[in-house]
Amino acid sequence: MNAPTKSEIYFHTAADHLKLSDRMRTLLLTPVRDVKVQLAIRLDNGEIGTFVGYRVQHDGARGPMKGGLRYHPEVDDEEVQTLAQLMTWKTAVVDLPYGGAKGGIAVDPRSLSKGELERLTRKFVDQIHDMVGPDTDIPAPDMGTNGQVMAWFMNQYQKYHGFQPACVTGKPLELHGCEGREEATGRGVVIIADRLFQQLGKTLKGKKVALQGFGNVGTFTAKFLHERGARVVAITDVRGGCANPKGLDIPQLTEYAKSNNGVQGFPGSEAITNEQLFATKCDLLIPAALGGQLTAETAPLVQAKFIVEAANDPTTPEADEIFHQRGILVVPDILANAGGVTVSYFEWVQNRSVVHWPLDEIRAKLEQKMIAAFDAVWKISEERKVTMRTAAYILGIGRVAQATELAGVS
Ligand code: NAD
Repeated sequence: MNAPTKSEIYFHTAADHLKLSDRMRTLLLTPVRDVKVQLAIRLDNGEIGTFVGYRVQHDGARGPMKGGLRYHPEVDDEEVQTLAQLMTWKTAVVDLPYGGAKGGIAVDPRSLSKGELERLTRKFVDQIHDMVGPDTDIPAPDMGTNGQVMAWFMNQYQKYHGFQPACVTGKPLELHGCEGREEATGRGVVIIADRLFQQLGKTLKGKKVALQGFGNVGTFTAKFLHERGARVVAITDVRGGCANPKGLDIPQLTEYAKSNNGVQGFPGSEAITNEQLFATKCDLLIPAALGGQLTAETAPLVQAKFIVEAANDPTTPEADEIFHQRGILVVPDILANAGGVTVSYFEWVQNRSVVHWPLDEIRAKLEQKMIAAFDAVWKISEERKVTMRTAAYILGIGRVAQATELAGVS
């Protein structure tokens, strides 16, 4: 085998514990399909804009492949491959009947008009509609995309394939969406943080939290932390940050961020940078923005005793080792942010049976799934004396490897 890439280091640590053969490792690491497409659209000024779209289907041993669609300037082959692989282990950790996929377009969505975004999304569907679908690969929102983008996706897909609401999840409620999908990732993050403190005989109430990112995941994470009595003392987004050691007023800040395009300048707070956020004196740090934020340079700054990874792939292996050495407990992304894909699964099930479940039922089912996954990972971590990340990878990779062995190769 070739030398492992950064993202494969975590994989091999768990694969060593599972005593997986080199052949099984190669099979599990090789994506099923990796597609890159040209997307040319007419811009509002009459010129032609050219973009590149990606979709990687990583592994389908446990079911149709599932993963978000990201619109961000840094989207590229390597990032999409890494995130697709994470989805395979994540869906297995929460025991959903899915494999993993991921996609995206290298674009800053804020630089396009609504009409341009719609044309870009529809063009992407034109290019990939024959390789995705309810039984093969089901996209969902991720950074830079939302319910509106999913609605355009479904509408364009249905032009080719007829009524297929289960072809994509994270849709608006008016278009076969699911109650609680928008809040699901943030809700799941807080369920996991709460469970972590419970396991340690502590409580989330009164704990100080620093949060990077105030988009879909960040705002709901802050909301539910606030509701459970935690104090969010620092937040940053792409434009800047704000801090108040006594705790930020989250409902007011959420309104402020909507009308001011971000959290910077929130009355009664101090302006902070990302580095200052990492160095904030607090109990819990939650990265909920980009990947690769906690590195060999930033990890030594961290003051928190616990990190719950709401973002995908926020911690480099070097930073992970620093946290381990410093006794900082990290709950990994493939467990902590699995609430989104879990409620996406509920949406897909409802779409396939043409039923609609109420919000309290969704929330109860989500809580059950997240706690079961947390407890399973915690048990492996205790029994094998490994980090929560290695334990989660052992659980996820173990389940995928077993399914692969049982199915065989036709
Ligand atoms: P989003 O686009 O809604 O929000 C992203 C946030 O990150 C914004 O507040 C943005 O300002 C901030 N940000 C961007 N660059 C930053 C920087 N350099 N410093 C500080 N903040 C920065 O995206 P989202 O859906 O909230 O996703 C956030 C993370 O959570 C991503 O890693 C995503 O893959 C992961 N995730 C999302 C979901 C979901 O359901 N949306 C599910 C699982 C994981």
